[in-house]
Amino acid sequence: MSDGMLQSNVTRRGNISQRIQSMSSSGIRRFFDILESMENVISLGVGQPDFVTPAGIRNAAIKSIEEGRTYYTSNYGIIELRQAISRNLERLYGVYYEPATEIIVTTGVSEGQGIVMEALLDIGDEVLCPDPYYVAYPAVVALAEGVFVPVPTCVDNDFKVSAADLEERITPRTKAIFLGYPSNPTGAVMERDDLLPVADVARKHNLFVVSDEIYDRLVYGVKHTCVASLPGMRERTILLGGFSKAYAMTGWRVGYVAARADIIEGIMKAHQYVMMSAPTVAQYAALEGLLNGEEDVRGMVAEYDRRRRLIVDGFNAMGLRCFEPRGAFYAFPSVGVTGLSDESFAEQLLMEERVAVVPGSAFGQCGAGHVRACYAQSYEKIEEALERIGRFVQRHRH
Ligand code: PLP
Repeated sequence: MSDGMLQSNVTRRGNISQRIQSMSSSGIRRFFDILESMENVISLGVGQPDFVTPAGIRNAAIKSIEEGRTYYTSNYGIIELRQAISRNLERLYGVYYEPATEIIVTTGVSEGQGIVMEALLDIGDEVLCPDPYYVAYPAVVALAEGVFVPVPTCVDNDFKVSAADLEERITPRTKAIFLGYPSNPTGAVMERDDLLPVADVARKHNLFVVSDEIYDRLVYGVKHTCVASLPGMRERTILLGGFSKAYAMTGWRVGYVAARADIIEGIMKAHQYVMMSAPTVAQYAALEGLLNGEEDVRGMVAEYDRRRRLIVDGFNAMGLRCFEPRGAFYAFPSVGVTGLSDESFAEQLLMEERVAVVPGSAFGQCGAGHVRACYAQSYEKIEEALERIGRFVQRHRH
């Protein structure tokens, strides 16, 4: 065997699997690497609350440690938390999940996304997903050896996905529709009337809907609609929910999956082997959030709303056209007025004015020409950031 052949064999059968090699690294990560080495940067980049976890939740966690609750829990999570999740979903959306068999507590929605795809997909099964999308969605589909099928959305339709656009892409291999509303990165919300035709498509073609509702509590002037609450949808919805955003608990790593029992049983197989159980302390913390954290949630949501209005008005005033996001904590303005691509805009803005935003194309083709600005940042910092961005746009307006 010649050296050349050996080389190409080594390349073909590299140390890292083809599956992982074919995945691109998150476009956000590259950005944060640059950012870490700079000073005086105002970051509207990272999608996490600036609030520290409410004191009541932190104290419940401390108490659970002091009481020696340091063991694995049931694979499903502590029953008290599953009961509280069940009551919460029934109170907010009128859907009932049986705590014993229809809910798994996960290590964040991130784990939930992965194990749901592992459980649902056979090799080559297709998953339809509105574009722009959260960066993990194509990755979890690819890791489960499924095929990710982006479905375009656009600002003229407030980044809502249409039933017709979904239906057009259905093939015999389509297994599920992956929704994430309120949306990261656009802040778009799909209200009940928007979701009904999507639910019709799912029922007509016998598809599952995997619905990532991690931002369910962060809505402004509209009501969140839980997909599982729509007629005939509880049976075909796999609901992902979490605590990171509404309770300011990103570092605790706790979320949940709710679905009918036979589906949960399948998901449980993936969960028990990769995770065993979600962090015990975090589970007691999340329980406290559900039992006594409502006032904290409402206080933070009211503050996000104030910042939302500041940033959206600010972008529009400087000529960066920004539709009104009704959920999550992101604004998604167009940078077209500068003539720069979203990547150049984000990179030059960071270098020249030290403000970090994320290029929209990191979230799919339909994000191109926009940037994502997270307003889970203090009001004063957003004001300062807007001043800097305004200066930048003045210089680059073409
Ligand atoms: N889903 C969406 C849409 C998100 O934006 C994020 C985090 O940014 C996650 C899931 C991750 O959630 P968790 O912290 O519960 O893993």
